[in-house]
Amino acid sequence: MLINKFLTMGLLKFDGSQLPSVLKFLKSREYQPLESNEKIQKKRLKKLLIHCYENVPYYHDVLVESGVMVGNEVDLTKFSNIPVLTKEIIREHFEDLKSKDTDERKWYLNTSGGSTGEPVKFLQDNVSWDHGMAGKWFFSTFAGKDISDKEVKLWGSERDVLKGSIGFKAKIKNMIFNRVLLNSFRMSESDMREYVKTINKKKPVIIEAYVQSIYELSKFIKNNNLEVYSPPGIITSAGTLYPEYQQLIEEVFGTKVYNRYGSREVGDMACSCEKGEGLHLNLFHQYIEILDDKGEPCKPGEIGQIHVTTLNNYVMPLIRYQIGDMAIPAENEQCSCGRGLPLIKGVVGRQMDVFKTKNGRVVPGEFFIHFIGVVYNKDFISKFQVVQKDYESVVIRLVLRDEIKFGSYKKKIIDSIKDVMGQDCKVEFEFVEDIEPTKSGKYRYTISEVK
Ligand SMILES: [Zn+2]
Repeated sequence: MLINKFLTMGLLKFDGSQLPSVLKFLKSREYQPLESNEKIQKKRLKKLLIHCYENVPYYHDVLVESGVMVGNEVDLTKFSNIPVLTKEIIREHFEDLKSKDTDERKWYLNTSGGSTGEPVKFLQDNVSWDHGMAGKWFFSTFAGKDISDKEVKLWGSERDVLKGSIGFKAKIKNMIFNRVLLNSFRMSESDMREYVKTINKKKPVIIEAYVQSIYELSKFIKNNNLEVYSPPGIITSAGTLYPEYQQLIEEVFGTKVYNRYGSREVGDMACSCEKGEGLHLNLFHQYIEILDDKGEPCKPGEIGQIHVTTLNNYVMPLIRYQIGDMAIPAENEQCSCGRGLPLIKGVVGRQMDVFKTKNGRVVPGEFFIHFIGVVYNKDFISKFQVVQKDYESVVIRLVLRDEIKFGSYKKKIIDSIKDVMGQDCKVEFEFVEDIEPTKSGKYRYTISEVK
């Protein structure tokens, strides 16, 4: 609705937000050549490093020792000499990582999501939030959504669960943004029936959803032969979009799924486009490196750790921050859609969700989902979770529907896990009543306890 669009932009401008201007900038750069966009990214990176050298105690010496700051000049060829930033370092050096001009800035306290361990605190510039939010809106345009186009959001609302409503402020916001919120923390059968009715009535331009929640909803729709409205696009986030998930969601809703990757602490970083060749990076807001265990850049096809440098957060800059997720670089950074935003092939999942064998082989969680959840599960497993206890021990927690059927597939499951994890790997089963999602509402299929 046009009126909502004007209202939204007007309110944001009135509020002093840079979101409208950043969004305009992103749209203007969308189809510019990759090289010229990368030049802007380098400029932002240099500016940030000078700020760090001058104002952030932790980085002052680090940047000189690594050879990045030579006098007052920045040498970006030495950037990879800067030690990576871990969550432990942030906890330990919190005060030294703050910029000296904190008092002159508008900022707020943010924390990491916690699905990769104990949450870490961060300071975040309001301006950086604007950049992140503009990036999110920009990614939504890939799926054909303009500001204030109708949207259904299947998202977790803690407040709704705790207090029985999403709150007055959230209601007003949803009204202005032309958005209906469906709580993914409440997904009983009757809730899901209501959600389908809402989608059919609202006819949104996009559905934005937790991967796991929209997958579960799709399964429910399929199993119950329900009719559902087909929106022009679905954006999934907050979890790994496995090929099986994507296929089912696209089949049930008869539309394209766009895979967005982000995190609480640094905002949205990447999103796939209509071509589905990989995920486009928002290179104006973050500088992303995918590194192997030795800290060397991964080659296309290799799985490595994501390291993020935030380009617009000056109050507490994160440089080469090891976020705890893993990704794969793309063969070709240029997508055939023509957007001048580099591609990565995909995000593989949380670090703890990826298994490792003794000889260093990485087994993505996707493997277990595929074999246990799809190939062998002839409807006898209701829920499962695979836990790697150590290099040679895997425990599969199961909520079973049919014990006899399970018995006939048990050996096959053990054999295929041994195939990838090694013949010495011990595979055990644990039968449970239920498997609870984590505090944030995300459901974890795989957990590795190997550090
Ligand atoms: Zn593309």
